[in-house]
Amino acid sequence: MPIFHPFHTPRGPRDSASASMSQPDRYTTERILEIQTVTPNLFRFRTTRYRGFRFIPGQFARLGVAGAEGAIIWRAYSIVSASYDEHLEFFSIVVPGGAFTTRLAQLREGDEIFVEKMNYGFLTTDRFEGGRDLWMLSTGTGVAPFVSILHEPGTWEQYDRIVLVHSVRQVAELAYGETVEGFRQHECFGELAHKLVYVPVVTREAHDSALAQRIPELLENGTLEVHTGVRLDREASRVMVCGNPEMVEETRAWFIGRGFELSRRSRPGHLALENLW
Ligand code: NAP
Repeated sequence: MPIFHPFHTPRGPRDSASASMSQPDRYTTERILEIQTVTPNLFRFRTTRYRGFRFIPGQFARLGVAGAEGAIIWRAYSIVSASYDEHLEFFSIVVPGGAFTTRLAQLREGDEIFVEKMNYGFLTTDRFEGGRDLWMLSTGTGVAPFVSILHEPGTWEQYDRIVLVHSVRQVAELAYGETVEGFRQHECFGELAHKLVYVPVVTREAHDSALAQRIPELLENGTLEVHTGVRLDREASRVMVCGNPEMVEETRAWFIGRGFELSRRSRPGHLALENLW
């Protein structure tokens, strides 16, 4: 079994075949239910879900696709869907030349996909104690675990303010914006919708209703706090970060420099991180 660091989960190796995953009882065979193209390089997809597969919102599953000569290629994917959904949903980029995503992108509805029975990862709100405001900072497909966390009723009950920042290059990559805005009308969470602050960030084209600078800059120059009207401090704020590893590292350093502490298994802190690759 792969060993994952308790608070900073490595997602690699990317697109690599795993010899250890040859025992069928360690995974189930599921089917692709639906594929939705977001951009030529981004797509959302749903699979059937083994009834025994359990996860905490924010965690990831390991997915397998058939590779050359019968080998299965495995890759970690954050789960987008709710813990109570009958299906599993994932959000993927097509990595140019990547063995896994190239094959994944060729799958069609009804095709097989393998899902490891174990769930993984520590980007979960149970890493925290206390706190008033939940901040979820993401780039690219790193928004995925936060959509799952937003589907969880406990998230809305636990925090006074919930800030989701999603930074992408082009506006078309703002996947799940509608889902997030849709929580305002949600039958369970609608009356708590005033807690939610959704902050799209588009860095490579002009967009009226999005911020334009990278997350570390928005933190450093105070724009995020002014824009959201929510102060960042270690007593009130619990911060989750997921996405581009350089963004995660720069953001980690910014928070550590302000006295925030990483959540550890033995000691809850204020900060939980996950690199996408
Ligand atoms: P990305 O380059 O990660 O950009 C997404 C957003 O993050 C943009 O707003 C970008 O701003 C920002 N960003 C990039 N570097 C940053 C940093 N150091 N600090 C703060 N913000 C930063 O784009 P992507 O489309 O999500 O992924 C890009 C590349 O990652 C692709 O080439 C892909 O092949 C590779 N990759 C992705 C995955 C995955 O699972 N998502 C896996 C393997 C490889 P700017 O526009 O200013 O750069």
